[in-house]
Amino acid sequence: MRPNIILINPWIYDFAAYDLWSKPLGLLYIAGHLKKLGFNVRLIDCLDVHHPGMETGPSIFNATRRRYGTGKYRRQRIGAPPVLGDIKRAYNRYGISTQAFVRELEKIDAPCAILVTSLMTYWYPGVMEAISLSREIHPDAPVILGGIYARLCNEHAAKYSGADYISAETALPDMDSIISILNKLNIAIPDMPLEESPLPYPAFNLLSRFDYVCVLTSTGCPYRCQYCASSYLYPEFSRREPVETTGEILYWNREYGISDFAFYDDALLVDSERHAVPLLEGIINSGLEIRFHTPNALHVREISREMAGLLHASGFRTIRLGLETSDMDRHNSLDRKISEGDFEKAVQHLIKAGFKKNDIGAYVLIGLPGQSVKSVEDTIKFIGDAGAVPYLAEYSPIPHTVLWDKSLESSPYDLANEPLFHNNTLLPCWDEDKRQGVPALRLIVRAIKEKCR
Ligand code: SF4
Repeated sequence: MRPNIILINPWIYDFAAYDLWSKPLGLLYIAGHLKKLGFNVRLIDCLDVHHPGMETGPSIFNATRRRYGTGKYRRQRIGAPPVLGDIKRAYNRYGISTQAFVRELEKIDAPCAILVTSLMTYWYPGVMEAISLSREIHPDAPVILGGIYARLCNEHAAKYSGADYISAETALPDMDSIISILNKLNIAIPDMPLEESPLPYPAFNLLSRFDYVCVLTSTGCPYRCQYCASSYLYPEFSRREPVETTGEILYWNREYGISDFAFYDDALLVDSERHAVPLLEGIINSGLEIRFHTPNALHVREISREMAGLLHASGFRTIRLGLETSDMDRHNSLDRKISEGDFEKAVQHLIKAGFKKNDIGAYVLIGLPGQSVKSVEDTIKFIGDAGAVPYLAEYSPIPHTVLWDKSLESSPYDLANEPLFHNNTLLPCWDEDKRQGVPALRLIVRAIKEKCR
């Protein structure tokens, strides 16, 4: 008998959450590897929007779907943790019901281990709940916690998560580290090759249903922006062979009819001649109708006329650009990823290539330490004037980034000891006066969006 092993993607606890092509890609990579090793992998996705048999109730809102597989998660209104009690906004648990989760756990017999992933640092209550319920149902199975919260808030996770082992070696799991943890916990690796040929890619087929696939062609980023944890999570910028990624995309399309793909890369277009160009040319040559989305921003200065044409021809539908601010002095001190005129040129290239204004979004960072409301307003208007749509991206202070110390100094919250205060909804590095200016900024954003429709 193959040993059962449980993999869990926990709930989100937050004021707001939206399924923008969100899948637990690291966990699905592990699932694929463990299957190949001979484990009977059982995946429980607490964020499954297609899960059958979920309870309804007065404070429960069902999942809804929008374009290209995105949409709202099922959510249940709950009381905010006491430290967030002053925030006058509804707090929710996003995902399947507790009862559905417990039923999934009970279906699985004597697992040899339970692997739990994590994402945002301030979503740890979902991690704790998943671990605590797993322990109740399967008290003998060791629990291993990995993912971004485990890596960024290692001590907090070790102290409070309830896991037996915190895997903080890498953000995206490499199989050697998983095997070494299993060895440390005396979990035998089965020597039982699969009868069917194993899936060569992350095991999306273990999800109850999937409408899109997330693809990672590279890890890390050659830039070192002060507000970003990419270089801490992935110290090396490393890339797969373009032909390998093209093969993966064609595989999901051919075998499962998937047409929507979201790139999870931090630096998809960097060194494009050797990476994105051959990859996208491979897609164009395949003649398939595929749609691509970039929830993680693309680098503005990489969008030349040729690249814009290639993006359009290969099927990109949702373009997000990482502008962050139109203040070039701030760019020089924070990230050095954009120079004067880059953004306007990129937008013009995209429009000439055939993208509509509505397809071209640009992120605006809001809530940085020392940033003024006026500077955000200027950036929003700058994006609108350039012919794109602004998207506000509230700044979340992240441990181990260059901006972390400044964030600690400027925040009224105890960021160092309570990850719940990293929540971007709080705008934790702005004072109340600045927060009062946010509704007016949202109105300007809305007016530009209306105009671009
Ligand atoms: S360019 Fe983007 S991914 Fe790279 S370090 Fe800056 S913010 Fe992070």
